[in-house]
Amino acid sequence: MAKIKIDINSGKVVKPNIVVGIDLGTTNSLVAWINPQTNKAEVIVDEWGALLPSVILLKPNSEPIVGVLAKETLLEAPERTIFSVKRLLGISQHEIASVQQFLGYHIVEDETDSMLRIQVDENFYNAVELSAMILRALKHKAEKVLGVQVFQAVISVPAYFNDSQRQATRDAGKLAGLNVLRIINEPTAASLSYGLGLNRTVSQTILVYDLGGGTFDISILQIEDGVFEVLATQGDTRLGGDDIDHSIMAFWQGKYPALVNCANPRDIQALRLLAETAKIFLSNNTDLIFTEWFEFSNNSAAQSEDIEPVKIEKVALSLDYGGLVTAAKALVLKTQACIVAALRDASLKPSDIQALVLVGGSTRYPEIPRVLSAQFPHLIINNFLNPDEVVALGAAIEADVLAGNREDILLLDITPLGLGIETAGGLMDLLIPRNTKLPCRVRREYSTSVDGQINLQIAVFQGERGMVKENRKLGEFILKGIPAMPAGFPKIEVIFALNADGLLTVYASELRSGVSQNIEIKPQYGLSDEELERMLLDGFEHAQSDLQARGLQETINEAQQLIYSVSRFIAKNTGMLSATQLADTMQRIDSLKRLLNIGSNKDALLQGITALNDFTRPFAENLMNIAVASALKGKEI
Ligand code: ADP
Ligand code: MG
Repeated sequence: MAKIKIDINSGKVVKPNIVVGIDLGTTNSLVAWINPQTNKAEVIVDEWGALLPSVILLKPNSEPIVGVLAKETLLEAPERTIFSVKRLLGISQHEIASVQQFLGYHIVEDETDSMLRIQVDENFYNAVELSAMILRALKHKAEKVLGVQVFQAVISVPAYFNDSQRQATRDAGKLAGLNVLRIINEPTAASLSYGLGLNRTVSQTILVYDLGGGTFDISILQIEDGVFEVLATQGDTRLGGDDIDHSIMAFWQGKYPALVNCANPRDIQALRLLAETAKIFLSNNTDLIFTEWFEFSNNSAAQSEDIEPVKIEKVALSLDYGGLVTAAKALVLKTQACIVAALRDASLKPSDIQALVLVGGSTRYPEIPRVLSAQFPHLIINNFLNPDEVVALGAAIEADVLAGNREDILLLDITPLGLGIETAGGLMDLLIPRNTKLPCRVRREYSTSVDGQINLQIAVFQGERGMVKENRKLGEFILKGIPAMPAGFPKIEVIFALNADGLLTVYASELRSGVSQNIEIKPQYGLSDEELERMLLDGFEHAQSDLQARGLQETINEAQQLIYSVSRFIAKNTGMLSATQLADTMQRIDSLKRLLNIGSNKDALLQGITALNDFTRPFAENLMNIAVASALKGKEI
């Protein structure tokens, strides 16, 4: 019996809060959830199955069609059928050149470095919008099958995705009407689906081998105390099952000269799909031979309204498992080399790997587990779950954690905004830059700027701006009871410790006396996605002016500090200086003060600082020598 929750204030039935896990793939995408009845992760299946082909058909004046129907139109309308969108996220025109020949659609030739665009009819689309179409289709699929609305999701991305690619994925989620609770690394999700990392007492080093349609990723993960850390990633963003398909096509084109005439986009796509069919067939039937008739028009202009009648040609294509192995040889070798490189990056030997997880449809090709067994003879390979589904299942498990349903796992995350403290003049001194992996710990030393200072205020801020007043104050405390010492003498150590939950603890202590103090802060508390985004954007927008403001403030601080220390020096050593030395020094101090008071620019201040510094340095050094000499004689000055 399912339980029903009722809100006693409104008297309304509370709909269960469902957070789905999404694998937004290059070739196929999936959505999964934790079935509350069984408490197990399940992929959501509709009448089309579990996999939603990541293919979009864009027709004029109609909603985009995503999935199987769109994949089928690759043949009829390659110019308006978009696939491999994930490859377009965060890349430039220059990089797309290598795959352009296999894409039937039009990528806008653009001189700028801006986001890549696709043109269909009169409309332009970027990769974020296209990804959002796929995500919206997954959202609808889940809502249709589960019968509830879905607003929250965890979306997976490759471990190597950079910040802008992760942000683009988040943006796509938002555009699709989803609140993206977290972006999870695909290898982390795959490991979770096998239960790796769920037992907090077990520490393990895992290698995740993900061979999909168009991408290959190796990740070495370290799980400790339920926390995942990526030790190394390797791979190739242009390597995958598609390469086997292309290689089979090339093999056939060499073997059957008639295929020279197979040139129009529609026929090329048909040949590509047939190559894929052959590959999958032989992977499942290694001792059979694949044979199929292939028909194509031998007129490359056949797509246009050419008056010439289209002549049809027919070729009987065939392939056996040996042919497949030959076609896939280069790919398999490349993936093996990547494993070696990943192990080297992580400074590990094959025997250090304690678990191996296979992900991606292409790992069903039997040669893959075979060569991996040879490379890692001590391991049992985790490939008993469906390699297409493990990422989505793991994302669903993570979604469940974030929904607050499980407390046994923590996942390594990154800080979205920088964390620091306020220093003299309202400057933001950054201790933890944004995108630092959690958990982390940073220590920095400070001192006092005034003689005899016994209290020090530590104010903690979050944000990307140079001055604290533009950032968000998280909290403050006062380090009290510092023994009175000359300015610059106390050694004040500040430590920022951010744990895996994102909880920040700030410690401050004066090292000479041992006085210490600390506070705990939740940096993300009460910060919405929109605010977070605005703070990030503000940081980018003002980067240049912030740098200038910061430079000026640092110079002001330097001038004030110099005035303070020279005045102190003169007060202490009045008797040792001539009347002219004194008068000239005072005059330079006054003119520097005046520059500060009238709010001068950085250059004017720097000149004032130099004038005072250059004048006082010779006699200060002279006095220092006397001081050192008398100190050596055991006298006090
Ligand atoms: P992606 O992560 O890029 O979306 P998938 O993990 O869905 O990709 O894998 C898709 C690839 O897996 C395609 O190249 C497909 O041809 C290949 N594939 C699927 N099933 C098999 C199989 N039985 N044998 C070999 N390759 C397969
Ligand atoms: Mg994948």
